[in-house]
Amino acid sequence: MADTLVIRSPASGSLVGDVPVSTREEVFDAVARARAAQAAWGARTLAARCAVLRDVRAAILDDRDAIVDLLARESGKPRHEALLHEVMAPLELLTYFTEAAPRILAPTPIPMRLMKHRGSWLHYAPRGVVGIIGPWNFPHNLPFGGAAMALLAGNGVVLKPSEYTPLIARHIHALYLRAGVPADLFQLVQGPGDVGAAVIEAGVDMVEFTGSVATGRRVGAMCGERVIPCVLELGGKAPALVLDDADLDRAVQAVLWGAFANCGQVCASVERVLVHASHYERFVARLVEGARALRLGDPSTTGDIDLGPLQNARQRAVVEALVADAVAKGATVRCGGGRPEGLEGLFHLPTVLTDVTPDMHIATREIFGPVVTVAPMDDDDAMVAAANDSHLGLLAYVFSRDPDRAQRVAERLVAGTVMVNDVISSHAMAETPWAGLKQSGVGATHGDEGLRQMCQTRHVNVDVLPWVARERWWFPYHGADLGLFGRALAALYGTGMQRWRALFGG
Ligand code: NDP
Repeated sequence: MADTLVIRSPASGSLVGDVPVSTREEVFDAVARARAAQAAWGARTLAARCAVLRDVRAAILDDRDAIVDLLARESGKPRHEALLHEVMAPLELLTYFTEAAPRILAPTPIPMRLMKHRGSWLHYAPRGVVGIIGPWNFPHNLPFGGAAMALLAGNGVVLKPSEYTPLIARHIHALYLRAGVPADLFQLVQGPGDVGAAVIEAGVDMVEFTGSVATGRRVGAMCGERVIPCVLELGGKAPALVLDDADLDRAVQAVLWGAFANCGQVCASVERVLVHASHYERFVARLVEGARALRLGDPSTTGDIDLGPLQNARQRAVVEALVADAVAKGATVRCGGGRPEGLEGLFHLPTVLTDVTPDMHIATREIFGPVVTVAPMDDDDAMVAAANDSHLGLLAYVFSRDPDRAQRVAERLVAGTVMVNDVISSHAMAETPWAGLKQSGVGATHGDEGLRQMCQTRHVNVDVLPWVARERWWFPYHGADLGLFGRALAALYGTGMQRWRALFGG
């Protein structure tokens, strides 16, 4: 295995930088150091931890041009997307959670139904060290957010970014430390998949994994063996349902962006468009017109492009194989379908396919590239059935002018999030949960639940009248109590007649 990751721009092939691969010993050492530093960090008040995270927010804002530039060079992302998806989203996340954490992590009292002489509450304690294993498609936003939430909750962090985007992770790490996060508390390890596996083997207390379903299964199994919790954010195959009363302009523009933003390398990308038959041909024509107008180019040299390249050659090969299989089995390429002329990097034309049939791999597998399929549908029921016919359930989208109808359709869709008349952007709404159903994942990031998942939820139950009497169900047992207990059960849980008999005899 190489001991250095050498990163080349996916748009131009020029050298961007390199990082050394962490050894297994370094990974184990990183986890041990994070654990040692966590004790003091977890003991700080939440207000003190929030103050450090606000300094991190100020540091990103100051550093935004450098972040955008590095993202453009390392990930091939258009600068516009780098700024809004990768810089603004963590700014919003830090703002929301530094404001809301005191409420979210405040002890939660549990009203007692029967045992009125008891007080019960939940409190949220740090888990210890959280391992964050991230993908390459949002290499700043995703690890940044995971680390912020883990730290806010009082944990140490060991981050293992994708081997395709180690430089931006190094940048994030340096930024956190510069802003005041203790050096040992936040550890960065670099390298391919086995370095991620070593993070788990080294004894972290929780894993937040974002990546493919195949790797997510392996990570989940490793966590299961160690009986540690894991949050899995995996693939998606989001359908967009364009109902017969949809605003077609908005639906076309939203699908165009939802399918091709970040060159389609978004877990929430629109991959399947299900359009009411009455709009079908018009919809396809306008989507094709929009796709043909998108400007491809190298984002490291200009801000005036819409699409960069795919991030790595492995992903372009996946996309090309899916398109080739679909075309061989009879799909129609309405636009795109291959590499553009005159661009050397890992580019792929924005592609619209129709006449896709279930035997084609593209019908069921995640594409994760600039390709979208469109199919005509007879009615809402057919759309819902087609949308739910997938092993994935991350995002789904509904387009309709009628809010009640859209809501009814939305509630029938098996997806962690359904957006109405919009696409993708709920990830930037830190207060809302981000969670996949079916094989799209387990657990949530973001939202109140996302922050609480970074904590051990501990329950405390107190007898507020301990001096009154010992509990009747303690030792020693007396046969004579059984009748009393039986009548008590009937009085508590019986029907009207059973209660009457328990209380008044008969
Ligand atoms: P991968 O599953 O290939 O990799 C994810 C991470 O896991 C990488 O850091 C990878 O390292 C690491 N890894 C690989 N093998 C192991 C292992 N055995 N143990 C521990 N870690 C390992 O995913 P991609 O990076 O290709 O990301 C794309 C996928 O991520 C898509 O399916 C996409 O839908 C999904 N995704 C989901 C999101 C969500 O919120 N649900 C958001 C963004 C992406 P390395 O890269 O070095 O091999």
